[in-house]
Formats: sequence, C-alpha cells, structure tokens
Amino acid sequence: MYNSTITEYEDNESQKLTQPETENDKNSIFDQPPKNAPAEQPLIWRNIIGILVLHVIAVYLFVTRYHEAKFWTWIFQIAYGFLTGMGITAGAHRFWAHRSYSAKLPLKIMLTCFYCMAGQTHLTKWIRVHRTHHRYADTSADPHNSNRGFFFSHVGWLMMKHHPAVKKYGKNVNMSDIAADPVIRFFDKYYPPIMLSLSFVIPSLIPVYVWNETWIISIGATIIRYVYILNGTFSVNSFAHLWGTRPYNRNHKAAENRMVAFISAGEGWHNYHHSFPWDYKAAELGLYRLNMTTAFIDFMGWLGLAYNLKSPNSEMIDRFCAKNDIDLLETDSKVDI
Ligand SMILES: [Zn+2]
Ligand SMILES: [Zn+2]
Repeated sequence: MYNSTITEYEDNESQKLTQPETENDKNSIFDQPPKNAPAEQPLIWRNIIGILVLHVIAVYLFVTRYHEAKFWTWIFQIAYGFLTGMGITAGAHRFWAHRSYSAKLPLKIMLTCFYCMAGQTHLTKWIRVHRTHHRYADTSADPHNSNRGFFFSHVGWLMMKHHPAVKKYGKNVNMSDIAADPVIRFFDKYYPPIMLSLSFVIPSLIPVYVWNETWIISIGATIIRYVYILNGTFSVNSFAHLWGTRPYNRNHKAAENRMVAFISAGEGWHNYHHSFPWDYKAAELGLYRLNMTTAFIDFMGWLGLAYNLKSPNSEMIDRFCAKNDIDLLETDSKVDI
C-alpha cells in the first residue's frame, strides 16, 4: 500500500541481515540438535501454580461475572488488549526478534510499552527464546519443541526448566543487536515495576475511577485480558506447529492456520513465516482482515514512524517453493486472507 516504505528483496541475502551469524554459529553447522532427546527438566512450581491460578480466575470470572461489566469496560479491555497484542506481534516479534522493518525512536518506545502491557517476560528473554525457536524449530533445542505434543508446546514448556539442548545450542543465537539497544536495556532494567503498572495496576484502576466499574469486574477483566493474550501467543507455538496447510515448505512443521491468524492478529501464517521470517507481513497473501499486525505496521509506515518494511518479491517466493519441492500448481492450498 505505502510502497515508498516497502523494500522488496529478490534473494535470501536479506535473511542474513535479520539473524547475523556468530563465529560459534559457523562452526556448528554440522552439530545439529536431535529432534526429541529425553532429558531431565525440573519443574518450576511457581510457574505451574501461577499459570493455573490465573487461568482458573479468568475462566470463572468470564463465565460468572463478565456479563455484568459496563459497556466501557468491554471497549477499554478490547482496545487495551489490541495494543498489548501489537506489543507482542509488531514489537517483540516482527520488529525486535526478526528486524523485519525499521522504527523511529517514538515507535520503538511505544512498542516496548505495549509489550510490557502483556506481562510475559523481559524483552531480551522473549527475543532469545524466539530466535532460538526459529533457528532450531521442532528439535530438542527449540524451547517449545512441538514434537513433544500440544500441551508442552502451548504452555508446558514454561512449567519446567529448559531442555539442556536449548542452553547448549542457544549460544549460537546472535543477540548482540539487542544487547546494544538502549531502549531494551532501559525497559529490561526497570521491567518489574513497568510491567506491573502497565499490565495490571493501571488497567484495573482506570475503569473503577473513570466510569465507576466495580473492583471485582475491573480486576477480573484485567486478568481475563492477560490470559487471552497469553493464549493467543501460545497458540502460535502449538496449534500453528501442529495443524494447518504447508504450501511453502512441506518439510517444516509450521503450518498456515486461519484460526491462529485470527486470535493472534496475523501470526498464524506460520509455514510462510518460518520460510521468510524477515517479511514484515509474516504472510504472503491477502488483506488486513486476518493480519491486523500488518495493518498496524503499514499505518505506522504511513505516519512515517516505520520504514524499510522488508518483503520478498513473488519470484523469490516461487523459487523458494520450487526448491522445497512444492509444485506451484499445488499452492492453491495457500489460504487467501
Ligand atoms: Zn514457529
Ligand atoms: Zn518468528
């Protein structure tokens, strides 16, 4: 749409820009992790109890009390949830982890605030996990290895220490750009107070003090939003690695999954995303309907806050499919969004 800000690439060289190789990395070409090696992974009880309690509260309050919420509480939490989602998808994922576009400082700060509203973890840690996932997808070195089933790849992986292979091979992932970024350094340093304020305290206070919502509904709505965003993020690692079509690379478990695209604002076109992780659209085809994150980034581009939006041209995608033994006539299975 805003062609002046989109950079079309014709070859895969640009992929190297997003994930620069380290010396360690070059030496590790022949040392690949096993698909699913058994290993001791002690449970993290604090996470197990925390995740369980939050889910029970969210489901209970959603079913029994949320219908009592005032109109503006619904609107507020949906809008807050949308911005939170953009912090994960347009921010941590497409901007920070994959460098699929460039952002001016105000947008960087805004995305990092939105990211903290999700309350998931320090930004550096999120990016490291995601880059490791891409580099070693569906092996023991993948933090949420989908070969271990739905539950593990969805949430189980957060309930135990990482597999030893994640630590071993994770060292090959280059994080130098993240370590050097002053915005990330600031937000990581003050993460606990920023996260608690933006994710829980402020969104619980606003409905009570601005339009007289009850405390129980306001706090409940905050927890429900938190749990929804959590599961939207998790579903990309579970559903979209287990179910869907594989029109770009049939050798990769990541799949095109329309339901995940809907609940995660456009992150469900996952067979494509693992083929071209540096495409800012994280999808080849279609409109904004099932990719609100692309709409958001394009809007930021229109405002002049995002630029150099990277995307491969269609010949490059066709060449990639042919190389991976995909008959171009078969690509009808690409879901047009
Ligand atoms: Zn994936
Ligand atoms: Zn990714």
